Formats: sequence, structure tokens, C-alpha cells
Amino acid sequence: MRAEIIAVGTELLLGQIVNTNAQYLSRGLAELGIDVYYQTVVGDNKERLMQAIGIARGRADLLVFTGGLGPTLDDLTRDALAEYVGRGIGLHEPTMEKIMNMFASRGGAFVESNRRQAMLIEGATPLRNDTGLAVGNALTVDGISYLLLPGPPREMKPMFDNDGSAWLKEQLGPSAALHSVMMKFAGIGESMLEDLLIDLIREQQDPTIAPYAKEGEVAVRVSTKATDADEAARKLEGTLVEIRRRTREYLYAEDDVPIEAAVVRMLTQQQRTLTLAESCTGGMLSGLVTTIPGSAVVYKGGIVSYSNEVKMKQLGVSRELLEGPGAPGAISAETAAVMAEGMRAAADSDFALSVTGNAGPSAAEDKPVGLVYVGLAERGGVTRVEKLQLSGDREGIRLRAAKRALYMLWQ
Ligand code: ATP
Ligand code: MG
Repeated sequence: MRAEIIAVGTELLLGQIVNTNAQYLSRGLAELGIDVYYQTVVGDNKERLMQAIGIARGRADLLVFTGGLGPTLDDLTRDALAEYVGRGIGLHEPTMEKIMNMFASRGGAFVESNRRQAMLIEGATPLRNDTGLAVGNALTVDGISYLLLPGPPREMKPMFDNDGSAWLKEQLGPSAALHSVMMKFAGIGESMLEDLLIDLIREQQDPTIAPYAKEGEVAVRVSTKATDADEAARKLEGTLVEIRRRTREYLYAEDDVPIEAAVVRMLTQQQRTLTLAESCTGGMLSGLVTTIPGSAVVYKGGIVSYSNEVKMKQLGVSRELLEGPGAPGAISAETAAVMAEGMRAAADSDFALSVTGNAGPSAAEDKPVGLVYVGLAERGGVTRVEKLQLSGDREGIRLRAAKRALYMLWQ
């Protein structure tokens, strides 16, 4: 199936809003194994919208619309398509009832234009809208399929993910479903990872191998089309084994979880606890860990030792280490080690991680921007420290430092 996404809205053309729906839909369609060949943006204008439909019909067999299903006169998508395919428009009673109930519960008078949101093109399948009023439309006419979704992302996303995807899967039949495994890596940059896999990436056909990088993490998605999970597993196995063999030390999960989730999962299994001593990340690491539900079982807490005073008083770093001529300073392997050890001892945790460094934008202690030390102290074990030279802006350096600290628990 070749798809075209048609985002409808003059605000998009004026640059007043960003076309995030197109990105979301492109990714969602790719996951269903549907190739997106074009993304179009067209204003709230019936004539041009019908032109866009005509062009899209000539080069795609699935047209996915977003926007213009609302109550106002500039919401034209449904009307334009109905006219184009020569079908009438009828009222979808359950949606109408829902709209009337909504007005009744709010105590306001019914506004007639809202009836438009309950309209369905003849023969179309209604797509449920759990977060808004306008009903979605899905239909196939003359071998071409159409999906009509609302514009507001909080309505469009659940509608696409639920009824929209289900309808598309029905059209596709069982054989085309895309199965994929997300392999997540830490402690390695995007280009180095690509280097390790370059011949596989170049020669890929089936399964396909797609590298991703975002928010301080890198990932590789390995995908194939198959009728069921068993067949998919068989087809993916060889490629997964080879990627695992080449990347073992960096691979921390084979599902789409951030490293903080994988750390919480691992520590929960091991029944071990963690504490954190943070300087340049200022609590970001603690923030990441506590976004994970269930982290309370393994994460005892931490200290944000942003000043030398707190490093000394709370974590037991000595003044000689921090101050005076020739002292290693706050940004040093020695300080990272004592921070981790002091934290671990103070809270009696199984592990403690520490982070100290210069996130920029200018040098500190004569140390370059991006120089970061991460430490790991372990009950009954030897303390380890790693020196990192990270690149990026302040936020990027802090995030990568936090992720790299978590990665120490993997090594
Ligand atoms: P409504 O019932 O709100 O009128 P609608 O289906 O008619 O919904 P539009 O009127 O086209 O949709 O857009 C409503 C709002 O949804 C826009 O103001 C914008 O905030 C958001 N929106 C629309 N299209 C997109 C898009 N392609 N990407 C991101 N946001 C969008
Ligand atoms: Mg609208």
C-alpha cells in the first residue's frame, strides 16, 4: 500500500503551527508496513483540497487526511471528499447523541453547527473519538482507501492508534503486518554504532535495519513483514544474533525503553538499591529515574551537591581535594569517586552513582566544556570512575552525562 498524508489547515501554510501530525502519521504508517510516498499540506479551501485529492489519487492508494473535521465553516475535508467520490453524507447517530449529551451536561444551548461533527460519508466506517467530538471516517472507493482524522493531536493520535490502525490492518490482510524489535544502546554514539553495523546496514533487504538517535540514546530498529509473531521471530533471529554479537557491551534492552527504565528493571530483579550524588546534572538523573513507575523499590534518594560546601559536608569530599593550588578540584576523577562512596555509605545503598563535570557554556576550574566524570561505588566492590568528553549544548551535555552514568551499572 502506498500512502499520502494530506494535512489540511491554513494555519499550517502560514507557519502558525507545526505539522506534527504528519510526522506522527508517517511513523505510525511505517510501523504498519505502509510506505508513505508523499506528505501534502493544503489550506482550508475546498477547490484546492479537491485538487490535492485528485493528485494524491493518481500516485497513492491510501489517503490519510488530518484536520478540517470540526464544526466551523472552514472545516471542509469531509465535504470535499464526499463530493470528489460522489457520495452523500449522513448523520452518525451515536456521535450525534454524544454531542447532544455533552451540551446537556454543560447546560449550554445546542449549537447547530456541531451537527457537522457527527457526519459520516455514505458507506464509511466511523472511527471513535474518545478525546473529542468529531467522528473519523474510513472508506474505500474504487480501490482507493481514505482515512479522515481530526486536526487536534490529542484527538488524532488515539483515533489513529485505535480504530484507524485496526481498520488499516483489516484492509492490509494478515500477511503484511510489520514486526520489529527495538535494540537500545548506551555508552556509544550514533556514528560509532553505525560503524559497527555498516555492512549490515548497507546490505539490508529483509529484515530492514534502521538506526535512530534521540535524547541522548541510540537505537536500531530491526523489522520484517510476517503473518504472525513466530514467523517474524524466525525471520529476525539471524540479524538480531549478529547485531548482539557486535554490540554486546552497549546493548541494554531489546524493547523500546529508556536506560533509566532498564536500570530500574534490572535493580528490581536483583533486589538491589541505588542512590545518586549529582553535581552538574543538578537532579536531572534523579528526575529520570523517578519518572519510572516502581522506581521507589530500588531508588533510595540522592544529594544534589552543586557547591563544594555540600560536597564536603554531605558527601565527605575533603577540602584538600577541592581547593588550593594543585588540588584535583570538583571536576576530577578523585572527587567523583569520593562523591559516590560518600553517598553510598551515607544511605547504605548497594550502588551509588556520581556525576561531576562542566556542562558549559564556559570553562570552569580551567576545565573544558563537556568534561564530565561519572563514578560508581558498589557495596563490597571497587569504585570505578569514567572520564567523558561530551559534546553539545548545556542541556545535551547534562542529559548525556546522566545517561552515561546510568550506563555504568551495565558494565
Ligand atoms: P476542530 O474541531 O478543533 O476544529 P479539526 O479537525 O477541524 O478540529 P483543524 O480545525 O484543522 O481540525 O485544526 C484544529 C487544531 O488542531 C489546530 O488549530 C491545531 O492546533 C491542531 N492541528 C491541526 N492540524 C494539525 C497538524 N497537521 N499538526 C499539528 N497540529 C494540528
Ligand atoms: Mg477546525
